[in-house]
Amino acid sequence: MEIKELLYEGKAKKVYNTTDAYTVMVSYKDDATAFNGIKKGTIHDKGKVNNEVSNKMMMYLEEQGVKTHYIRQLNERDTLVKRVDIIPLEVIMRNKAAGSLAKRLGLEEGTLLKRPVLEFCLKDDDLGDPFINDDHILSIELATEEDIVIIKQMARTINALMKTYFEKIDIDLIDIKLEFGRTSTGEIILADEISPDTCRYWDMKTGEKLDKDRFRRDLGKIEEAYMEVYNRIFNQQ
Ligand code: 5GP
Repeated sequence: MEIKELLYEGKAKKVYNTTDAYTVMVSYKDDATAFNGIKKGTIHDKGKVNNEVSNKMMMYLEEQGVKTHYIRQLNERDTLVKRVDIIPLEVIMRNKAAGSLAKRLGLEEGTLLKRPVLEFCLKDDDLGDPFINDDHILSIELATEEDIVIIKQMARTINALMKTYFEKIDIDLIDIKLEFGRTSTGEIILADEISPDTCRYWDMKTGEKLDKDRFRRDLGKIEEAYMEVYNRIFNQQ
């Protein structure tokens, strides 16, 4: 299989066509953005860390019976994935209050939620990824009722699996943002990435933030935090 033209350039990844109609290649960049693209920067080697971390998570989820877009890693930054039509939703699962939820509900960051909270946002930077509900999704035909049931089930399962996975390496999974896509056969699978860019990871013992909030909130030691997550994942016994 050969890699062909650039299909799409996102904020953190580029997507290339391949000679296989069912496969595309994603290439992870070091570019970092926050607040829907308003804040811009570079996190040295972020692309490599996120590529490797996300692939490891996708492989683990596949082993646990979750369908994902992952096919094969090609090199440090590039990975082959199944071609999908991305459903333009950000599906957020929250275990503890942080970020926009803490703000919206007036909760202290770190407040344990009695049960995981699932939220949908419309994936649209120009609109600031607004919060939407099932009715909006159905009214503007982003997904069917059946799709929503599948997406919710998958999101809850993935969150539970990831929470347990990270607990084993002393990381508290505060929240996680997921994206789903439809394959050519109409199957809904997990797409995008699972990485310190798309989750909140707090050190279980110190509470230290090991994720993109270090960039968003100018906390410093960003590269170190991403490497710490990488090392815990890849150096665990
Ligand atoms: P919040 O809504 O609190 O800002 O974010 C909740 C979770 O979803 C966090 O883990 C955050 O990293 C992730 N998230 C929400 N929106 C985006 C987005 O547009 N891009 C990325 N990479 N992650 C997001």
